[in-house]
Amino acid sequence: MSASGFAPHQIRAIAEAIAREISAQSSPPPAGGSPAARPGPGGVALGGGAFATVDEAVGAARQAFFQFGGIGLEHRKRIIANLRAVLSAEADSLAREAWQETGLGRYQDKVHKNRLVIDKTPGPEELVPRAISGDRGLALIEPAPFGVIGAITPTTNPTSTIICNGIGMLSAGNTVAFNVHPRAKRVSVRTVQLMNQAIVAAGGPPNTVTCVAEPTIESAQALMTHRLVRLVVVTGGPGVVGEAMRSGKRAICGGPGNPPAVVDESADLDEAGRLIVEGHSFDNNIICVDEKEVIAVDRITDDLKAAMRRHGAYELPASELSRLEAVIFAKNAGPRGHAKVNRDLVGQNASVILDKLGIHVGPEVRAVLVEVPNDHPLIWTEQMMPVLPITRARNVDEAIDLAVAAEGGNFHTATMHSHDLPSLSKMARLSNCSIFVKNGTGVGGLGHHGEGYTSFTIASPTGEGLTTPLSFSRWRRCTVTDHFRIT
Ligand code: NAD
Repeated sequence: MSASGFAPHQIRAIAEAIAREISAQSSPPPAGGSPAARPGPGGVALGGGAFATVDEAVGAARQAFFQFGGIGLEHRKRIIANLRAVLSAEADSLAREAWQETGLGRYQDKVHKNRLVIDKTPGPEELVPRAISGDRGLALIEPAPFGVIGAITPTTNPTSTIICNGIGMLSAGNTVAFNVHPRAKRVSVRTVQLMNQAIVAAGGPPNTVTCVAEPTIESAQALMTHRLVRLVVVTGGPGVVGEAMRSGKRAICGGPGNPPAVVDESADLDEAGRLIVEGHSFDNNIICVDEKEVIAVDRITDDLKAAMRRHGAYELPASELSRLEAVIFAKNAGPRGHAKVNRDLVGQNASVILDKLGIHVGPEVRAVLVEVPNDHPLIWTEQMMPVLPITRARNVDEAIDLAVAAEGGNFHTATMHSHDLPSLSKMARLSNCSIFVKNGTGVGGLGHHGEGYTSFTIASPTGEGLTTPLSFSRWRRCTVTDHFRIT
């Protein structure tokens, strides 16, 4: 028997039945459609949690909330366990569909992301109550759900964010209505439908997870301000974070980042070069925690660049910088400015970007390395493509100051490669990020090839950091006066 209370063969049978049903839904529906999934106005299947309007999606999640609240914690744990089992069986197919629909990133890295959130997103075990007893009785302080959460998800991690949010929010006893990114709506809707079926198969109510089948910016705004939505959770860039903060609701916001990687003289340079290329190019740099710029102490910069070249970076000569800018920026910026990137190249392979410069390389090239001055826009821009700028600092203190400035006050993620403890501590303190990784990759800070739980909503603007079920909980106190004190 597994921790879910289901025997392994039962979990497998449920997962297989759901996979069969989902694949039947992806086939052309019979004439007139089926009640389980019928084509919506834009061709995305309605049903199974997908609704035509925000009102319907929130209303159904609200109804599900009352039913979900009536089932016990042990049953909730079994539902979450089944959710993980069913999603695990579909992790590869969801990764492939996300890759095909968005055209961003690398398929294999998306598989890693799905598996990471399925395995390492914390569940109901997080909900540990506190009890205080004394002469005057007992106070029990326990986490409770908000109700319906309105969640907005990005195009860069469509399935992994929905899975991670879904597990975390439901574990805390909430239900959730999603407005997903319009450019990832098909795979996002399928993820929601799959989750609903796994929940129902484990005895939970329908529509604990819902979504708007044809999402738009307007429907996102309507969701954030809907009267039945108790908590808003957004994951995206500065636009959606600003909207959430103006919504008038309690908001948890995962916003943009520009993670620096600092390297000093004490680092193991070969290992630093390998890890930076690996972390920077993970899913072609579209993850918010991926290394976006390298700041190296002058004395070791040449050796570090050589290590990066050995580990999959193609170094572009400085003479090619202006041609590169013309290709990757839609609008350049002045010193220390934020350039507007060419959206067509976001999340593309390094070989595609080099191709535009007439340089033809194979898929083994993971990143385009280019040395730039300190104030070059590439250092200051969240480029989200495998173009890795490196710049020099005279010493480690100067490198740390520059890295903190380039991080831009997002307080999101920073990394450093060093074996000098005072310098590592200084960087950790001054960068003050939700995630600081020493001698590892940015994505290692999410628990990928690293320790700790994961989250794909890293809420730096609102302070929750890596969100967990506790982030989606209210604290409620129940007091008994003058009783229950044993001694
Ligand atoms: P995006 O901001 O374009 O879109 C994110 C979501 O917000 C989408 O569903 C979109 O439809 C919606 N949206 C955008 N502007 C809106 C507005 N004005 N009103 C209402 N809704 C709006 O971002 P993206 O390209 O999908 O994702 C990349 C960005 O997200 C990067 O900046 C990245 O750093 C950030 N991100 C942050 C985290 C985190 O956990 N902190 C995780 C993933 C991505």
